[in-house]
This record gives sequence, C-alpha cells and structure tokens, in this order.
Amino acid sequence: MIKYNLTCKNNHSFESWFSDSKEFERLKRKNLIECIFCHSKKVDKSIMAPGVLNTKTHNIKKYSNELNELKKFKKDLQNIRKFVENNFEYVEKNFAKKVREVYYDKKSKKNIYGSTTESEREELKEEGIDLLSIPWIEKDN
Ligand SMILES: [Zn+2]
Repeated sequence: MIKYNLTCKNNHSFESWFSDSKEFERLKRKNLIECIFCHSKKVDKSIMAPGVLNTKTHNIKKYSNELNELKKFKKDLQNIRKFVENNFEYVEKNFAKKVREVYYDKKSKKNIYGSTTESEREELKEEGIDLLSIPWIEKDN
C-alpha cells in the first residue's frame, strides 16, 4: 500500500491509499479518482507531500554526518602519517630487505617504514614478520 497526497484543480488536498504507484496511474487514466470535496476528476499527486520533504532533510543530515566521520578519519590518518614520519626511518623500496635486517639483528631496534609488494609481504609473513599497513594519505587536499 502507498499513500499519496492528492490535489485537485481547485486546490483541495486530501490523502488516498493505493496498492502501488501503477494502481494510481491506472485509476487516474480511467477517471476513477475524484476529489472528495468537489468531485473534480482533475486530480494529481501533490509534490509538496510532507513525507517526501522529511525524507530529504533526513538524508542530507545523514550525509553530512558521514562526511564529518570521513573528515575525522582522514585527520586520524594524517596524524598517523606524521607520527610515522617523525619516529620511523624511511627505507623506501628496500623495506623488505631492511625489515629482515631489523628482525634478525636482535640488537637493532630501528623503526622503519617503506613500501612492499604483495608477494614481499606474503614472504615476510611466512617468516613471522607481521607488518602493519597504513593507508598513506596526502597531507593537503
Ligand atoms: Zn476539489
């Protein structure tokens, strides 16, 4: 069932129930819908239905909430990046090699960061070296 707010050509507005939107079109084509006040058959769906407006406002609010969540999340990622850059040594694409050096040399306690390929990461994982991968976000955009 679907409820429509209907308006006739004399600006009477009223509500009516239909089994679906096709049912409304069908009855309208057959002139079976008439105004409950003046019995005019010039009746149409009202576009200013309060239900429609509420739904839209609700969606906008929900969207802006999600946008704020994303902004907060982005800020977190930027902070993580800053932390890593300040406390870790950047080894670029030698990461897989360097991380092994750190891992197997017990004296060395260097914090390093860099990039690996998917297969390098798999190999390191098999050797028991667990990596944390962080989405690397641009500082300004
Ligand atoms: Zn009317």
